[in-house]
Amino acid sequence: MQDAIGVIGLGNMGRNMAATLVKKAFTLYGFDLSEEARQLASEQGIAVVKEISELAEKCSVIILSLPKAEHVEAVCLGKQGLKALLKEGSKVIDTTTSVAETSRKVANELQSIGVEFVDAPVSGGPAGAAAGTMSMVVGGSKEAYEALLPIFEAMTRVRIHVGEVGAGNIAKIANNLLAAAHLITTAEAVSMAEKAGLDPQQALQAISAGSGSSAASQVMFPNWVMNKAYNSGFTMALMRKDVGLAKDLAESLGLDLPMLQKTAELWRASDGKVGAAEDFCAIVKCTDPELFGEEG
Ligand code: NAD
Repeated sequence: MQDAIGVIGLGNMGRNMAATLVKKAFTLYGFDLSEEARQLASEQGIAVVKEISELAEKCSVIILSLPKAEHVEAVCLGKQGLKALLKEGSKVIDTTTSVAETSRKVANELQSIGVEFVDAPVSGGPAGAAAGTMSMVVGGSKEAYEALLPIFEAMTRVRIHVGEVGAGNIAKIANNLLAAAHLITTAEAVSMAEKAGLDPQQALQAISAGSGSSAASQVMFPNWVMNKAYNSGFTMALMRKDVGLAKDLAESLGLDLPMLQKTAELWRASDGKVGAAEDFCAIVKCTDPELFGEEG
C-alpha cells in the first residue's frame, strides 16, 4: 500500500502542493493551525484533519510548508510535536525556506527515533506548486533523496540534490538573495530608461531579451509589476525574512559582500513604506513610486 502523505501548513504553497499530490492520486491529509487555511484546503479537495496527532497516526511521510525555521522547530520538536508522534521509519520533507542549523538540529533529533528529515525548499510560487512545476533543492542523505523521489517528481519540474541536511536551505537562501536584488536592479534599470524617454514596457522587453535578463524581468515584472497586479502569492514578510537569512549566513561566515549589504539595507528600509502582508514585488515602489505605484 502507498504511504499516506501528511502536509502541515496549508498556506499559499502548502495548499497548492497538497492539491497537486491529490490530483496525482497520492493519499493525502492536511493540517493547519488556521481554520481559514483548513477551509480553503478543503474546498480544493484536500482531506483536512484538526489535530497534528491524527496526521501522524495516518501518515508515514510528512511535508512541512511553514513560514519560518522557528515554526519548523516547534512542529517537529515541541511538546506534542512530530518527534513525540511519528512512527519509526517515517520521513519528513521540509519545504519551508528555513535555516541550515535548524534543519541539522531537527534532523539529528528525529534520527534518534528512526525518522529521516530532508530540507527541500522550493521556488515557483503558488502557481508552480499548483502545476507541479516547482524547482526544489534538497539537503539530505542519498538514500532518503532516492526513496522520496516519486514525491519530488510529482511536485517539481527540476530537483537538485545539493548535499547533506541543511544544504537545501543554503542553496535556497543564495537564490532568494539574487531574486531580492534583481527586483530592485530591474526596477532601477526600467525607471532609468523611462526617464530617458523610453516606453517602460519596451525597455523591459529589451532587458529581458538581453544579458540583463532574470526571473525578475521575465516573470515578476510582466506578471505582477507592470500590470500593477502585485498578487504573486509571496509576501513582503517572507522575502524580508529570506534577505535577513542571507545576511545572517554571510555574517556567520565572516564574509564582506557589499551587494548583499546594500540589498539587505534596501529591503530593511522598505519597512514602514511597504506593509508585511503586501506582495514582495511591491518593493519596486520604493525605487520609483510614480512609475510602479498603483496610482502611477
Ligand atoms: P503562508 O503564510 O501562506 O502559509 C504558511 C501556513 O503555515 C499558514 O497557513 C499558517 O497558518 C501555517 N502554520 C504556521 N504555523 C503552523 C503550525 N505550527 N502548525 C500548522 N500550521 C502552521 O506561507 P507560504 O507563502 O505558503 O510560504 C510557506 C514557506 O514557503 C515559507 O517558508 C516561504 O518562505 C516559502 N516559499 C514561499 C513561496 C511563495 O511564493 N509563497 C515560494 C517559495 C517558498
